[in-house]
Amino acid sequence: SSLPAKTPITLRLCGPRGFCAGVDRAIQIVVLALKEFGAPVYVRHEIVHNRFVVEGLEAKGAIFVEELDEIPPEHRKQPVVFSAHGVPKSVPADAQSRNLFYLDATCPLVSKVHKQAMRHQKLGRHVVLIGHAGHPEVIGTMGQLPDGAVSLIETIEDADAYMPPDPDNLGFVTQTTLSVDDTAGVIRRLHERFPNLTAPAADSICYATTNRQEAVKQAAPGCDHFIIVGAPNSSNSKRLVEVALRAGAKKSVLVQRAAEIDWDDFGDIAIVGLSAGASAPEVIVDEIIEAFRLRYEARVELADTVEETENFLVNRELRHVPLTAQ
Ligand code: SF4
Repeated sequence: SSLPAKTPITLRLCGPRGFCAGVDRAIQIVVLALKEFGAPVYVRHEIVHNRFVVEGLEAKGAIFVEELDEIPPEHRKQPVVFSAHGVPKSVPADAQSRNLFYLDATCPLVSKVHKQAMRHQKLGRHVVLIGHAGHPEVIGTMGQLPDGAVSLIETIEDADAYMPPDPDNLGFVTQTTLSVDDTAGVIRRLHERFPNLTAPAADSICYATTNRQEAVKQAAPGCDHFIIVGAPNSSNSKRLVEVALRAGAKKSVLVQRAAEIDWDDFGDIAIVGLSAGASAPEVIVDEIIEAFRLRYEARVELADTVEETENFLVNRELRHVPLTAQ
């Protein structure tokens, strides 16, 4: 006798999804530094917010620390890499005073936000940063300027309550990975209260955040469930879950690996959306598709929006190192 036929299910796979150019570059920097300088290579903070990526680099000889004082003196000649999220100015200064050799893997689009914040301040504006308290990118951006020069706004309620030092001299920047729609609402409210509020020269929310949210928004209507691959501390991944729900997906969940999927949630379901945050590797998307194929007659439907061609060069010190498989 034959096995019972599997239930058909459609996996609506969003594009663009997964790794952005900044994440790709940051991982390359660690891999190339390991090749060029040998293990260990220290990395301050998770290079990108993904356990799978971090463990893969650890297996190659990277050692992750939260602060520079965790680097033992005998390894002072080994490089330390700063994560893609960016660091306060005090961190490279501290590295220099400890005679450490550092490689900065801050995404160029985060550095651009840093420059915009500094430009506001140079032009006499108090800086408003829209972002999530405690996120390393927010700590890094605030740390470009002296204490007190930047005010953090997280929500519309914060925008309502905000009392600036000089309401006519304000400039804003944002975290790169925020919800496009929520941020527009916060900026609108700030503009209503402070008509002279100056925008940065270019949008702070990056192309990768914008494109991944837009793709999920277009794919979500009609989805019974929506899986986002990403880590619980990944800001841009968490935003994708919210976008999926708001755009009409009946349910949505953030998962790090296929093993986290609660299959009881997928009883009578016909269409499942699937995307991945900017720090989530494609192998995990594949793993999830395979997990569906084991249980269902799964058909993958591609839901592509735009094509991404962004590509960022690694640090000058590493450009001569070939990026080939070891
Ligand atoms: Fe850079 Fe955007 Fe990727 Fe962050 S999400 S690393 S800002 S490209």
